[in-house]
Amino acid sequence: MNEVTPTFLFASNNLNKLREINSLMPPGLIVRSLMDAGIDIDIPEPFHTLEENARTKSLTIFEKSGLNCFAEDTGLEVKALDGAPGVKSARYAGEHAEPQENIALLLRNMMGKTERSARFRTVVSLIMEGKEYQFEGICRGHITQETSGESGFGYDPVFIPEGTDKTFAEMNLAEKNKYSHRKKAVVKLLEFLNDWYEENHR
Ligand code: IMP
Repeated sequence: MNEVTPTFLFASNNLNKLREINSLMPPGLIVRSLMDAGIDIDIPEPFHTLEENARTKSLTIFEKSGLNCFAEDTGLEVKALDGAPGVKSARYAGEHAEPQENIALLLRNMMGKTERSARFRTVVSLIMEGKEYQFEGICRGHITQETSGESGFGYDPVFIPEGTDKTFAEMNLAEKNKYSHRKKAVVKLLEFLNDWYEENHR
């Protein structure tokens, strides 16, 4: 077994995501934020797919730090809107839109629609010793008629996952993790890392 605790950089400036990622990590693994590592960079998300954006973020940070790292990109895909806002979820109502503005536009575009199914999709890109690996997590649910709840971030107040009647914003982190797209992608990442360390440090 490797005696040094494996350390990864999480290539994101989003403190909400960092909090969620840290809540999912086992004790034997250290996740450092960009801030911890003294990396101050606005990571670009210029592409049309979550996969390309996640890869660009992790590669950008790998090239800057030389450290094993991972990034994620998440989108809310709404069936009645042909998959929008999708990869543009952060910028749905404009380049520097506030979450409330994105939500307001989403609810406006969903007005009168009875088909309200949607899903969150997360793609995690891991750079491990210079090679890239991707992991996907999906959470299906539906868009509410109005906002409800104060917790979480982004579109949490208007999304109810399948299997409950609460929005993500009405849940604490432990409850959100029972359903969360991010959790599902991170579980796959952790399984991969377990296997990788077993393989390489027997
Ligand atoms: P990005 O992955 O940082 O590009 O985020 C895309 C958009 O989706 C942003 O507006 C986020 O606030 C939102 N978002 C990402 N993850 C979640 C989540 O778990 N719940 C609600 N909104 C999210």
